[in-house]
Amino acid sequence: MTTHPLFDIAGRTALVTGSSRGIGHAFARGLVEASCTVVLNGRDPRALEKAAAELDGIGAGGAEVHTAAFDVTDGPAVAEGIADVEERVGPLDILVNNAGMQNRAPLLEFTDDAWRQILDTNLTSAFLVGREAARRMTARGHGKIVNICSLQSEVVRPGIAPYAATKGALKMLTKGMCADWGRYGIQVNGLGPGYIETELTRPLVEDEEFSAWVRGRTPAGRWGRTEDLIGALLYLASPAADFVSGQVLYVDGGMTSVL
Ligand code: NDP
Repeated sequence: MTTHPLFDIAGRTALVTGSSRGIGHAFARGLVEASCTVVLNGRDPRALEKAAAELDGIGAGGAEVHTAAFDVTDGPAVAEGIADVEERVGPLDILVNNAGMQNRAPLLEFTDDAWRQILDTNLTSAFLVGREAARRMTARGHGKIVNICSLQSEVVRPGIAPYAATKGALKMLTKGMCADWGRYGIQVNGLGPGYIETELTRPLVEDEEFSAWVRGRTPAGRWGRTEDLIGALLYLASPAADFVSGQVLYVDGGMTSVL
């Protein structure tokens, strides 16, 4: 099998935040399969070791899998974590800001602490990790950053306003990073998944009424799978997207396009 050179990312080094499970782990798998060296991140070292073991031996051409446990909402821990990754593994070519959480509750019941937690986890994290990685990428003159947005960067439903606020702001942070760092050879884009079956959405998948609503509203007629997202990530991380920056690519079976 031959790969078109525009899509060849073999040998690059990538950090995927929040990759101990779910979408982040699928991204890590895709990058390893594309022969990248990948660093898995999350807060739980044991979960990371298990996640790394699942990717053992699937990469070709010297692709390695490493782990780096740190909390992406903690500025000093992020600075230390990125420095440690670059020292142990090598210069980062690709950063995927994927770590995130959801908290479904009506706004009138949303507490101050819950608001700060979701903002820190979904938005501040991308600023902290992005800034730390970009300090090094700008000095080297190249880099790819992909921020994992959501269809809720565009639209919102009752009971999920804080999540949508973080993902809408992440879309604008993506454009701002593109504006600031483009001249240094860094492309920054967003990837916006639709409804994807993961641990985060398990309560929704198990709610038959909601699940049927998702299938009915999605032109593709089904929930997304984590594998559905990998191609878009690999594209945004590849030379094929060297003149693509500040965009959000929605991978949602068409949902954000229909009423
Ligand atoms: P999961 O809950 O399955 O996984 C979340 C990952 O993030 C875990 O690896 C978790 O590890 C890690 N994480 C959470 N908080 C932190 C933190 N403070 N520091 C470091 N790591 C952290 O979520 P999904 O895979 O479903 O979602 C991944 C991303 O995709 C999120 O940004 C989400 O908003 C987005 N998304 C998901 C959709 C879906 O339908 N599933 C739809 C649209 C967007 P640990 O807890 O061990 O730290």
